[in-house]
Amino acid sequence: MSMIENEYDVVIAGVGPAGSSVALNVAKMGFKVLAAEKRQEIGSPKRCGEGLSKSALERMGIELDEKWVCNTIWGATVYAPNGRFVRIDYKGPEGWIIERKIFDKELAKKAARTGAKIVAKTDVLGVERKGKFLNVKLKTREEIIDVKTKILVAADGVESKVPRMLGMDTTLKLIDIASAVQFEMANVDVDSKRIEIYFGNETAPGGYVWIFPKGKDTANVGIGVRKPFARLTAYEYLKRFVEGRKNLKDGSIIEVNTGGVPVGGLMKNMVLNNFLVVGDAAHQVNPIHGGGIAEAYVAGKIAGNVIVKALEDEDYSAKKLSLYNKIWWDERGKKLEKILKLRHVVEKLKDEDLNWLVDYLRGEDLVALAEASGMEKLKFILMKKPKLISLARKLF
Ligand code: FAD
Repeated sequence: MSMIENEYDVVIAGVGPAGSSVALNVAKMGFKVLAAEKRQEIGSPKRCGEGLSKSALERMGIELDEKWVCNTIWGATVYAPNGRFVRIDYKGPEGWIIERKIFDKELAKKAARTGAKIVAKTDVLGVERKGKFLNVKLKTREEIIDVKTKILVAADGVESKVPRMLGMDTTLKLIDIASAVQFEMANVDVDSKRIEIYFGNETAPGGYVWIFPKGKDTANVGIGVRKPFARLTAYEYLKRFVEGRKNLKDGSIIEVNTGGVPVGGLMKNMVLNNFLVVGDAAHQVNPIHGGGIAEAYVAGKIAGNVIVKALEDEDYSAKKLSLYNKIWWDERGKKLEKILKLRHVVEKLKDEDLNWLVDYLRGEDLVALAEASGMEKLKFILMKKPKLISLARKLF
């Protein structure tokens, strides 16, 4: 018995936050949606530090749910290579460390309740054009089947292959992809109210180390590094970091997570006839901190709304769907592009510059920078050091 029918209005490849968001927003308008996830369990294994800020949650427009909240965050400490730091203290909860395995499933369930058909262990293998429609080849546990659809959405994450099946090249340059490894650790000595971030060209070249506490003595301890800056693997840098810290080295590793994070390569065009690409697959990630849960979900909503209009008007052309490019670039792309400029500057700073910067930056400046609103201040600080003036100009 196949749960999958022969024809849908929309087929979605991948059920992460992006796929669930598209599914929800299209199915709630009464259209027939199939969302296929190749893994046998949605949200697992997680590939995420599981940090979600208050502003990200607000952007997603969803309610906090105790089912998936592990821990509430009230502050952050950001360390320079020499161990000096900037503290950020909030008056109230400013973020959460969540359980992605539950969170992603809850998003999928919400989409299912609006009428979308979600199928795990179903791989999108191929797609070809058939007149005005697409023919999508799916591999389920039992069979390989063909499904006809008006629109296909690639929400297939950072290792996305579906766009290439239709001739859209989404390959990232090596410098725009962070290689990440994370240990979920138990029996560690962490401040459960604060996240910690560590920068440095010896610690995490082209990226950073994070400690995101999931509870009193548990934490996601992870790293993202990039070529050509990194000489070792992300795993080697992380191991060295953990072994070098009294509060972590005697802890236990209860899960290892690995994955890529697209921290650049924003796409001007994310549509073809009958086709859109969303989330990590479209590189919709904050280029400085690598957060992509909310970006994926918000992009999914924008794409979903554009798809609904296309279905209502029975026009699935790239021209019609390109409204998604416009809205996404207006709402998110321009901001992420500014943050990418900041990344280009930060990655050129030497350890001595990062150590020096700590004396000038306050906690709120760092928060503003991560959201692209503190560029002016950083520019003026960098201008104080003659050898950094040309770098500062890049922030204009
Ligand atoms: P994904 O969540 O990757 O979902 C894509 C899905 O598509 C996958 O489930 C995959 O199995 C499926 N798929 C792929 N190919 C096919 C196919 N052919 N057929 C069917 N299904 C397919 N973001 C944050 O906001 N906060 C963090 O703390 C954070 N930490 C991170 C730490 C690490 C180590 C990494 C790697 C990433 C982190 N991110 C974080 C980024 C975040 O995890 C992603 O941006 C987010 O999951 C993107 O959602 P998505 O739906 O686009 O893709």
